[in-house]
Amino acid sequence: MLGVDLHTHSNISDGTLSPEQLVQAAHEIGIHTLALTDHDTMDGLNLAEKVAQEFGMRLISGVEISSQWSRPATKKSYGVHVVALNMQNPAPLLELLEQQKHIRAVRAKQICDLLIPLIGEDIYTDVIAKVDNVPDRVTRTHIAKTLVEKGYVSRAQQAFDKYIKEGKKAYVKFDGLGLEETIQVIHASGGFAVLAHPTRYDLSATNIRYLIEIFAKFGGDAVELPPAVDPLGTRQMVDRMIAEFGLKVSVGSDYHGSNMPWIKLGNIPRVNDGQRGIWESFV
Ligand code: AMP
Ligand code: MN
Ligand code: MN
Ligand code: MN
Repeated sequence: MLGVDLHTHSNISDGTLSPEQLVQAAHEIGIHTLALTDHDTMDGLNLAEKVAQEFGMRLISGVEISSQWSRPATKKSYGVHVVALNMQNPAPLLELLEQQKHIRAVRAKQICDLLIPLIGEDIYTDVIAKVDNVPDRVTRTHIAKTLVEKGYVSRAQQAFDKYIKEGKKAYVKFDGLGLEETIQVIHASGGFAVLAHPTRYDLSATNIRYLIEIFAKFGGDAVELPPAVDPLGTRQMVDRMIAEFGLKVSVGSDYHGSNMPWIKLGNIPRVNDGQRGIWESFV
């Protein structure tokens, strides 16, 4: 076992374990190098770090940034997630995360407003209660969960499919940082930029390849290896792109606790011979 998991969520965003519980759980299954990568916030890191020190574990500072890239050929903009890891001087990134948090807070209200005519109720108060009434921590996972609890849908996935995913009536785009700017600010903060889950954006194979190429040209450092459940052909295509552009690889489970019970902490894909792990570059 590699003992590394570089993509995890706590209840500071849409995971269910507290940062302290997450570190404890990771320790119990033999993870020695853990990155906490909540959505657009680094607020859980200090809590996690305290416990990591007790266990002698290596906690890597992290955050999953809601970014976007525009394909000039199609003029369409796509939401993509960039995992920032191992920041040595997080000040520039923390400043931009304040903007991201503001976008997140405004968007949560917008989504709830769009839901009112669809379900006949304003669920905003219930949604922010899920994040200790801090609106800048709201994700669509919290909105989906609230819709389940109130009986409007039977499962979270249904909430996405019926109301809040792209193309549905209560969808609101996350108008976040551009991809190039995201990579630049991560580097300005002394961190590594990792393209998260390249096969999870509903992109065609051509667009996945283009995204990895542009990510490399913008100076991105590593690409997350797709999970073993993805088709072999897709995984091999990503492996080829990683090799072609000289990128490193990152591994993470994208653990969300009981919000996504099928994802297990520490369950990461196998690293192929010849692939260089970003964790080997951590200082
Ligand atoms: P947000 O950053 O607010 O757009 O929320 C994104 C989170 O919602 C992701 O990290 C996933 O955890 C979850 N999510 C996004 N799309 C879906 C989907 N189609 N089905 C279920 N969960 C999703
Ligand atoms: Mn999430
Ligand atoms: Mn993501
Ligand atoms: Mn994630």
